Parts: sequence; structure tokens; C-alpha cells
Amino acid sequence: MRRHRNVKIVATLGPASSEYDTIRALFEAGADVFRLNMSHGDHDDIRSRHNIIRDIERDTGRPMCILADLQGPKLRCGVFDTGSAEIEAGTSFRFDLDDTPGDATRVQLPHKEIFEALEPGATLLVNDGKLRLRVDECGGDFAQCTVQAGGTISNHKGVNVPDVVLPLAALSEKDRKDLEFVCELGVDWLALSFVQRAADVEEARELVRGRAAIMSKIEKPAAVEAFDEILEASDGIMVARGDLGVELPVQAVPPIQKRMTRKCRAAAKPVIVATQMLESMIDSPMPTRAEVSDVATAIYEGTDAIMLSAESAAGSYPVQAVKMMNDVAEQVEDDRTYREIIEASRSSHLSTTADGIVAAAREIAETTNIKAICCFSHSGSTALKISRERPRVPIIALTPIVETSRRMVLSWGCHSVMTQTVERFKFAVVSAVRAAKAAGFAVPEDQVVVMAGIPFNQPGSTNILRVAPCDERLIFGAEVD
Ligand code: PGA
Ligand code: MN
Repeated sequence: MRRHRNVKIVATLGPASSEYDTIRALFEAGADVFRLNMSHGDHDDIRSRHNIIRDIERDTGRPMCILADLQGPKLRCGVFDTGSAEIEAGTSFRFDLDDTPGDATRVQLPHKEIFEALEPGATLLVNDGKLRLRVDECGGDFAQCTVQAGGTISNHKGVNVPDVVLPLAALSEKDRKDLEFVCELGVDWLALSFVQRAADVEEARELVRGRAAIMSKIEKPAAVEAFDEILEASDGIMVARGDLGVELPVQAVPPIQKRMTRKCRAAAKPVIVATQMLESMIDSPMPTRAEVSDVATAIYEGTDAIMLSAESAAGSYPVQAVKMMNDVAEQVEDDRTYREIIEASRSSHLSTTADGIVAAAREIAETTNIKAICCFSHSGSTALKISRERPRVPIIALTPIVETSRRMVLSWGCHSVMTQTVERFKFAVVSAVRAAKAAGFAVPEDQVVVMAGIPFNQPGSTNILRVAPCDERLIFGAEVD
């Protein structure tokens, strides 16, 4: 099974997508990566969704990539007796530490630190900034506010306090427990929320101990400032536009998205553009024109992946939302202007043998009728370098390491394939062409480029490139060993 596009789709799972059949339907519609949001659902829910994804992996034979997203020091309100409440502008509303379910007059805000740091006059923003409240009076365990912009407030909605510096650690107690839990489950990527500095990433990396790749979510002004160091310390980046657009003016988000997408590509690290991409599809089977345009823009910018949040986790049309993203992606990638933009924004990286071979592979694929670039990769770093080139043909990333095959699913254009350990180049070529044919990328009359490192199974040793026929009799007849 193959995709007919290069950009990847990340679908967040939640109550609307917690059964095998729905998750399978999301995959069939185009979801490549599944996101488990640790802010919602308990460990049993998370384990159950994780196990279902691994069942689908077994049943489809396709590596599945799972991204667990730690809540981080994100402030969220408690719960309501009816799940939500309508609060009106001009009325009074109270946040406190009492865990009794809330109503239209009050709700719990289980963060003592906020009440300690708040001052009268400060602004509280709820639900991606849709609701705005001004603090009139506050104490160690409450804040009495006037609602300035009203609306619906529901269970566990996010709360931002943009004008107050909060003395919060990068990883809360809950994050540490969640981190250990998901690493033991065996997720492939771990996303860190509200990263402020590279040291936050390094702290998490020590706890992760190589069990997952680390993605930093850029959603604080401080992270935008320290972006270069954070990128250096991370394996991937998420442009988390929801909180970013609350903590900064919304109009600051598009330029940041563009800049980060480019920097990530240059660094050969995957980047996800996230939040509100098809927001109206939470309640409607059709998106707005502006949402379609937003998805398209992220793809034109060259992002590795686009993400659905509530659309797939809690909306009424999760499968349709994935399908819509898939359709937009296929259309954009078919456009000649897309190719022109992608080529024009390619930068040259020629410092290692692998860089040279990767650049050559891309050029050969452009000048002759090549159907795929196949690459044997141990850590996945060579596949990432090919992905950075954004070649015209698909990348078949072969690896004997299951963790690598799953992680690479997130990267632009990478079709991951598990392979046996190979000892001789001839057999590497054979497994590459078999994988290309099996997935429907090539037929026996076609040719593919095969890259590998000899000796095998040494990370970072890519040193050989061959243009191979997909007819296996010709491979065995050739003199190359
Ligand atoms: P969240 O992160 O969905 O966990 O808040 C994404 C964002 O803020 O955009
Ligand atoms: Mn966020």
C-alpha cells in the first residue's frame, strides 16, 4: 500500500477515534502518523489506542508511526457538571482550586502557581484565546474575573496567561510519569509542549534514553527566540499554532511558520504544521475555502507533515477530515508551481560522502526515467538527507530496525519498508526492487536508484549508488556483487 503524495498526515486520536474500525479507516483515508495527546484520556485509553495502532500495523504490514504529545506546563481548567458551560460577556466568572465540577459561574483551575503569580488587571485566555477574562480580584486559591469575550468553555480547555511570567518547570510531575509510560509502551516520537529553551529538550532526552525521537513544539515566544538551539537539540519540530497564536499576536504566526519550515528542511529534521487546519470540519463535512488554502500553503512551503487535532480526535467527521487533507495534498503536489517552489528553496549541503551520494541520486532520478530512490538506512539519517532534497520520485527507506522504520514515516516522501539484514549489495538491490514493485512504485521494466553503505549495518556509512533494473534476472546477471 502506497500514498500518492509526499507530505504526511498526522491524525490525533481521541473519543471520536478510539476503536479499531475508525483508526483503520483513518489510516486507509490517508493518516500516516497517529498522535496520542497526553492532555486527554487516562493511561488505559492511551494504551488501548496504542495497541490498536500496533494491531493495524500487523494487519496491514505497514510501519505505523505513533507520536505521544506530553501536556507540558500547559494550564487547563477542570471539568463541568454538564461537560461545558456558556459564559457571557459582562458576567462574573471565578477560577479556583476546588475540584467540584464547574458551571456558568465558576470552574477549577488546578494550578496553584497561577494564582500566586496573577495580579488584578491580568488577562486570562481560554480555548485558544477565544474567551477572554480580566482578573478583578485574586488570592492564593482563586481569581474572580469579568468575562470580556464570552463563549463556550468545556472540560480541560487550555488557559493562557500571556502577560504573566509563570515559574513553571519544563516537565511537570504528570509529564514525567507520562513520559515513562509512553516510552515503555513503545511510541516512536515524543512531543514536548511549551519548550522554552534547548535545556528543556536535553532534560527530556536524558529521561527518554533513546526510546523515542524528540519533537519540540514551538508555542512560546521564548521558543521562537531560541529556535536555532532548540532545533539543534531536537529530532523534529512542531509549529504549534494554537498556543503560539495565543501567546503572540495571531498575525505573527504565518511568518514564523514559513521561517521554521525552511530551517527544519535545511537541518534535515521533520516539521509538522499543526492546529486549526480544518477546524470547521469538527462540526461540518466540508471545510472552509480558507482552511483548504491553509493546508495547501503549508504543503507549498514544503512542510513534512500537516496535522489534525480535534477534527480527528473529537469531531463528527474524522475520516472525512483526513480524506480532505489527502485530496488537497495530492492536488497541490500535482501542481507545477509546487515543484518550482520546492526546487527554488532547496539549499546545497555537501559536507559528507552521504551528502554527495544523496545529491547525485536526486539528480539521476531527475535526468533519467527512475521510479524511486531506495535507501538502506540504519539510523534513518540517510533517508532524512534524501527527504531534504525533496526529490521528484518517492523515497523507499529500507531498514532492518523497526524503530527506524516507524520514525521515518513522519518525514516527507519516505515510504518505510522493513527488510532483513543484508550482507551483500546484490541482495540489497534485490530487496529494494522487490519493495518498489510490491508497493506499486515500479514494474519490472522500470529502474530505481539504490543507495547503501558497505560494509552493511554501520550507521552513517552510505558510500554506494546503483541504478538498478527492476527485472531481477538482470540483477543476477550483472557483474556487480
Ligand atoms: P496542543 O498543541 O494541541 O497540545 O495545544 C498544539 C498547539 O498548541 O497548536
Ligand atoms: Mn499547544
